[in-house]
Amino acid sequence: MDRSNQNFANQATAQPALRNAEFALWINPEFNASHSCFSTDTVDVQGIELAQQRLQRFAPLLEHLFPELKATQGLAESPLLAVAANDFWRVKPEQGHFWIKADHQLAVAGSIKARGGFHEVLEFAEKIAHQHALLKETDSYLQLASAQARAVFSQYEVAVGSTGNLGMSIGMMAAGLGFKATVHMSCEAKEWKKKRLRQNAVTVHEYAGDYGLAVEQGRLAAHANPLCHFVDDERSTSLFYGYAVAAYRLQSQLQAAGVIVDEQHPLLVYLPCGVGGAPGGVAYGLKHVFGPAVHCFFVEPEDSACFLVQMQHPEQLGISIYEAGQNNQTIADGLAVPCASQLVYPLMRTLLSGIVTTSEPSLYSNIWRMQQAAGVRVEPSAAAALSGLRALLETEQGQTYLQQQGLQKHMVNANHILWTTGGSLMPDEEYTPLLGQGKAFAHS
Ligand SMILES: *Cc1c(COP(=O)(O)O)cnc(C)c1O
Repeated sequence: MDRSNQNFANQATAQPALRNAEFALWINPEFNASHSCFSTDTVDVQGIELAQQRLQRFAPLLEHLFPELKATQGLAESPLLAVAANDFWRVKPEQGHFWIKADHQLAVAGSIKARGGFHEVLEFAEKIAHQHALLKETDSYLQLASAQARAVFSQYEVAVGSTGNLGMSIGMMAAGLGFKATVHMSCEAKEWKKKRLRQNAVTVHEYAGDYGLAVEQGRLAAHANPLCHFVDDERSTSLFYGYAVAAYRLQSQLQAAGVIVDEQHPLLVYLPCGVGGAPGGVAYGLKHVFGPAVHCFFVEPEDSACFLVQMQHPEQLGISIYEAGQNNQTIADGLAVPCASQLVYPLMRTLLSGIVTTSEPSLYSNIWRMQQAAGVRVEPSAAAALSGLRALLETEQGQTYLQQQGLQKHMVNANHILWTTGGSLMPDEEYTPLLGQGKAFAHS
């Protein structure tokens, strides 16, 4: 037995929740392919365009503040990677074309949280800048790197509750602009993420409880400071719009790659889901851009399937996984969330095709399968995307869905996108054992 295997054996006894079925697919009975994005009291599609413009306005400033963003001219954007059909994923050419939307590589934040988190901090910075007349109409946003602007920002605080990655995104951007930055971390948060934030002048508070508790503590602490902006992951439209911008960016990348998306060339997208903000924003944006040609699936750990639990109990708003007998025990720290976003849930009721739940062994083996097939280094949460693809292609429910939607005859022209939501910043000490455990699981 190799060392990594042994490590896992120790962990397995501490985590009796491990089960063997790899994944399951729930098809959303309310899904309506022709239903387009609608507006609610809180969300409308124009918000996506405004967010896109805001990120563009700030690009020169971000390029100046973060050397890592030079290559993408100040925009946090990830490549779209083509992946050949392969045995590691058990996929064949007649099942379509395969892509990775490589958000694990997003600079500075290292995860999908970059677009949403940066957008919300920048929206706040813009508001403060206008209040203090830091921006004249002709001024470039580079002005906001001046000593005068930073002195103003330093009076304000930006705070957030997080399982790790949202804190990384908000904390890095807020501190980068000169705000006081505070992150309230739930018990899942990895040590290296806290350390990295502290090294970048971010204050990190740690809690023994779950994500819901960290958010609550953060909200309370933020209320005590009138100059504090609290980023509310469960309700924020600013985060949501920032996430949704990814749809425009993906559209350009697909066009550049010569990929057609229409009803004869369906686009199938697999999105790891925690509270539902990031995948919900992306799905909303994609529906806006591609309409009935796009089919979005969320993927959740089977012991933290909060979005599924909410979709299955529409009459119980705010229901938690604990009420459904789940315990929030998962290696996918970014997805370890007990309650679905009540901002996003209503938007997904008819737009989301289905939800895949994945077992813990699958999350591990997916890490290895992603590395073998595509050479990508992803964290467990991001690896979940692969279970989405496999569940659609391998389960009876998946076949039924393809049949009902009239997609079977178009599969050879389909494009599948695995959204790899995080992981490139993971230190080797963290990644190498996961990869070893993943390999062992893939062969067992
Ligand atoms: C946060 C996160 C997600 C899911 O985003 P939610 O908004 O919580 O649904 C997926 N993958 C990774 C790596 C994340 O950090």
